[in-house]
Amino acid sequence: MATNGIHHVTAIAGSAQRNLDFYTRTLGLRLVKKTVNFDDPGAYHFYYGDAAGSPGTILTFFPWEHAAEGRAGAGELQETAFRIPQSAIGYWTQRLVNQGLERTTRFGETVLTFRDPDGLRLALVGIPGIEAEPAWDSGEVPAESAIRGFHGVSLMLDRTEATGAILTDVFGFREVAREGDTTRYAVEGTTIGGIVDLRAVGGFLPARLGRGSVHHLAFRAADDAAEMEMVRKLAANHGLRTTEQKNRDYFRSVYFREPGHVLFEIATDIPGFDVDEPAESLGSALKLPAFLEGHRAQIEAALPVLA
Ligand code: ZN
Repeated sequence: MATNGIHHVTAIAGSAQRNLDFYTRTLGLRLVKKTVNFDDPGAYHFYYGDAAGSPGTILTFFPWEHAAEGRAGAGELQETAFRIPQSAIGYWTQRLVNQGLERTTRFGETVLTFRDPDGLRLALVGIPGIEAEPAWDSGEVPAESAIRGFHGVSLMLDRTEATGAILTDVFGFREVAREGDTTRYAVEGTTIGGIVDLRAVGGFLPARLGRGSVHHLAFRAADDAAEMEMVRKLAANHGLRTTEQKNRDYFRSVYFREPGHVLFEIATDIPGFDVDEPAESLGSALKLPAFLEGHRAQIEAALPVLA
């Protein structure tokens, strides 16, 4: 089984409630974990995904109520694209008509682009023949039209060569197509979260992180040994050092700034989101890492109240 590809994407939101409503109701994703930012426990960390919270389906947010707006530019993840059945294009066109929806074609695929309430750039890509793939029935979006994980992400970079070399040498991608200023990289055999598009935009102003922008992009490693092998390759072949490994409870991660200035993470597939609550009730309780459990009362009192 292929274990290369995208693990998760983490972005910055404003209002926690508005973020929760949009992703669980409008887009029909499952909230698979409700926790806090381990490095800033005054803020939530929401994880949305498929029924099981599988790698390749996970979009996460740090909602900071007073976050300043980000600015699009070079050196950032510009767009996150989800897979939908081709037959659901009409359903989603109607559903997202108030989100600034535009329809386009890229690499021969039908793409609907739109923004979330904080301005985050999203897309839905119609894929023929995936109606029978399992889907989360949110009660808001019928299963036959539901999102089936990530299609891929687009990075907007000043130059793309050094980033492309890391995708191919370290993360198991290969170059598969070019269209205009965009080079498409894909992992053979990975249908969910298996595509990264690199768009060369030399001369653009650098992106500024904020509400509506992506904080980092995480790639999959099957386990600690696979992660450490990637760390070794980054140092030996690309002269890049990562952080030490951090325990994120649901995966174990290292981080590094890739040559195009996007923050990359490598996250293990193990142990997964059912490590601290049953699979059937994922996301229903506020979960805290052990080192914060002793401060639960203060943390809960300071977090925004959710309906
Ligand atoms: Zn992450």
